[in-house]
Amino acid sequence: MAVAAVLAAAGCGGDGDVIERAETTTTPAPTSTTVAETTTSEPDGPVVIEVRTERRATEGTDGFAQIVRDTLADPRGWSQAGFEIRITDDAPNVVLVAEGDEVDAICDPYDTGGRFSCQIGPVVALNADRWREATDTWPGTLEEYRQMLVNHEVGHLLGRHHARPACQERGTPAAVMYQQSAGVEGCAPNPWPLPWEIACAARHDEPVAPPYEPDATATCGPDDV
Ligand SMILES: [Zn+2]
Repeated sequence: MAVAAVLAAAGCGGDGDVIERAETTTTPAPTSTTVAETTTSEPDGPVVIEVRTERRATEGTDGFAQIVRDTLADPRGWSQAGFEIRITDDAPNVVLVAEGDEVDAICDPYDTGGRFSCQIGPVVALNADRWREATDTWPGTLEEYRQMLVNHEVGHLLGRHHARPACQERGTPAAVMYQQSAGVEGCAPNPWPLPWEIACAARHDEPVAPPYEPDATATCGPDDV
């Protein structure tokens, strides 16, 4: 079901009002064998993940590359978990923004339905409509929504799975790996990984750039750290 040569397979719909780890029965793509530690440049150094950006949808996406760069470099983000995300022109991983029909093709066999985003193999595909307008139910700012979208989908690229429930106590920040586009369940909208999400990610025990894995579930949660 690969759509283009660059696409491996797998990942997740991200900003999803749902879907994400979809419901297709397509034959799974080859399992990724790249575990995070294997990309470490030094034994005790950060795990280096190289990413490039692509603006396939041009309308209303000015500044996309800079926002992605700033979000991934932000000290409130995944860098706290020992990941150094470098933006390079020839990186094997890509964070792109595209119109819904193109995202659907890229994310197949995930069902992104023209609305959702996904991570599949080395590709993070963000839905341009969501980038431009967030969702009707998003209680934060558009800037925060975009940061959440980038951190959620890149979180999948780093091997992170969905968090549930949205938060441990009503009114506290939602986990960034919770599907906040579908609502925040009485939690506060939050674009940044929570301390427990950082602690789980810092274990570096999940393959990066995972392929299509519709049944993937988190093996580390707030009670495990
Ligand atoms: Zn997701």
